[in-house]
Amino acid sequence: MRTQRQVVDYSLQKRAVLRELLAGRVGTYDVCDASPYLKNAARFHGEPTDQRCPICRSENLTHVHYIYGDELKQSAGQARTLAELPVLAMTLREFQVFVVEVCLGCDWNHLVEQYLLGRDGLAAGTESGPEQGAVASAAGPAHRRRREAQQ
Ligand SMILES: [Zn+2]
Repeated sequence: MRTQRQVVDYSLQKRAVLRELLAGRVGTYDVCDASPYLKNAARFHGEPTDQRCPICRSENLTHVHYIYGDELKQSAGQARTLAELPVLAMTLREFQVFVVEVCLGCDWNHLVEQYLLGRDGLAAGTESGPEQGAVASAAGPAHRRRREAQQ
């Protein structure tokens, strides 16, 4: 999406959780705890993906997009379909999107990423957003390599 900015990627955290699980330091019961609300949001507003669930490996993950921001008023905290986001991005100045992956088979769920959307990004978003994103993605893989080298 054109106005997407200040992207925070949570794949490192997800890998850490999966490592803990493999090592037996946490149980599937601790990580497969999707609430009925989250599962409903996944069913009615979710975006199907072709990624297999890392836990049960029998279902594909569904992405749920939650929106937050003062301009949303009573809609803040609600799930929206991916198709609705560009429309909101053209009408609102700025709002936060949290993407959560959910498995409707085993209830695995984890934050995928968060980012800002809105009209503010069209005019002035170029001076800070992309730079921060570049730093984050450059730091990510290096950090991961170090972690793996230690193990
Ligand atoms: Zn699953």
